[in-house]
Amino acid sequence: MALSHYNSVPMKEWRDWRWQLRHSPASMADLEKVLDIEDGDLVSTRPAAEKYPPLATPYYLSLIDPNDKNDPILKQIMPSPAETGSQWRAHSDPLAEEACSPVQGLVHRYPDRALLVLTSRCAVHCRHCLRKRNWHRELPWNSATQADIIDYIRHHPEIEEVIISGGEPLLLGNSVLRNLLDDLAAIKRLAVVRVASRLPAVLPQRFSQNLCALLGRYSGLWLVTHFNHPRELTGEAHEACRKLIKNGVPMVNQTVLLKGINDSVENLRELNLGLLRMRVKPYYLFHGDPVAGTRHFRTGIKRGLSLMKQLRNTVSGLAIPSFAIDLPEGGGKVELTSEAELLPADYPCSAYWFRGLGDKDYFYADDG
Ligand SMILES: *Cc1c(COP(=O)(O)O)cnc(C)c1O
Ligand code: SF4
Repeated sequence: MALSHYNSVPMKEWRDWRWQLRHSPASMADLEKVLDIEDGDLVSTRPAAEKYPPLATPYYLSLIDPNDKNDPILKQIMPSPAETGSQWRAHSDPLAEEACSPVQGLVHRYPDRALLVLTSRCAVHCRHCLRKRNWHRELPWNSATQADIIDYIRHHPEIEEVIISGGEPLLLGNSVLRNLLDDLAAIKRLAVVRVASRLPAVLPQRFSQNLCALLGRYSGLWLVTHFNHPRELTGEAHEACRKLIKNGVPMVNQTVLLKGINDSVENLRELNLGLLRMRVKPYYLFHGDPVAGTRHFRTGIKRGLSLMKQLRNTVSGLAIPSFAIDLPEGGGKVELTSEAELLPADYPCSAYWFRGLGDKDYFYADDG
C-alpha cells in the first residue's frame, strides 16, 4: 500500500522541486501527521529527533509503505532510539575531515583531490549520514568562502580533481552553481569536477532541463549519486538520470551498506542491476563509518565481504561496485577484497590493521 497523505496534491505542484522543499516535514510532529503514526510509537525516538532532526521530501516519503514498520525508505529517514544509545568508539567526525581542512569548506586529504563542503543543507536527513554533525550547524554558502576555496585550489598545482560535496550542492541555485563551476573551469589544470548529490534519489524533480544543460556544459564533470535501495529506482529517478546523461553528464553511484535496509544479495543485485538499466555505473559500496549515531546500521566487514562474494557469482561485472571503507583518522579509503587480506589486531572484538595514506597503519575496530 502506498502512502495516501499526498494523493490530492496537483501534479504541477508535485513536480516543482521548490514546492517539495517547502512541504518537507522537518519535525516529529510533521512526520507523525504525514505517516499517520500513533504518538505512543514515537516517544522513544524523541531524544534522537532532538539531537538529529528529521527531514524528508514529500516525494521520498511517498515511497514508504506505511504498513511496513521495517520499510527500507522509512528506516533511512526515521529517527531511532539506537542513535542516542551507546556509541562505543564512534566519533562525530571519524574521518578527521575537520583536521584535514586548510580553509573553511575544503578537505584536502589526497594530494590530487580536494573535497568541498559548501553547504550543510540537505533535502533529506539520511539517518546513516557521515556528516550528521553538521545538521545543526548553519553552513550557508557565501561568496567569500568560495573565493578562499578557489584561491587555495589555484595555489595548489597538485590538485587535479575537485569534489563538490555537502550537504547537498544541487540545492544551491543554478546561478550559484554556474558561478562556482565557471570559477573551477577557469583553472585549466583540473581534469575532473565531481558533483556528489543525493537528489536523483530523494528529489528527482530538481533535474530541470535548465540544470541538466548547465551541468552538461562543463567537460570533465561527473555526477556521483547515492541510491541505497532498489525501491528508490522509480520512474521519476530514472527520468532525472536520463536527462542528465542525455545532456552529457556521466553518472556513477555510491551506496552505503545498511543493516536491515539493503544488506541482502537480492537487494544489492536488484539495486546495482537497476542502476545499470538507468546507465548509472555502481562505483562504491561503503561499509558504514564509525559515525556517532549510526552504529545500528553497520553490518561488520565480514558480512559485507560475504555479500560481495555472493553478488559476484550472480550478476554482471559491470554491476559490481568496489566494496570499501574510509579509514578512521584520515587514513583514506581502502578497498576490501577478501578476508584473507584482513590483518586481525589483538583486541577483544573484531579489529583490523589497514595500510592507509602515507604508508601508515590504521587501527579499525569493527563493531558491526
Ligand atoms: C572519498 C574522498 C575522496 C574521493 O575518493 P575516491 O576514491 O577518488 O572516490 C576525496 N577526498 C576525500 C576527503 C574523501 O573522503
Ligand atoms: S544527502 Fe548526503 S550529506 Fe545529506 S544527510 Fe544524506 S548522506 Fe548526509
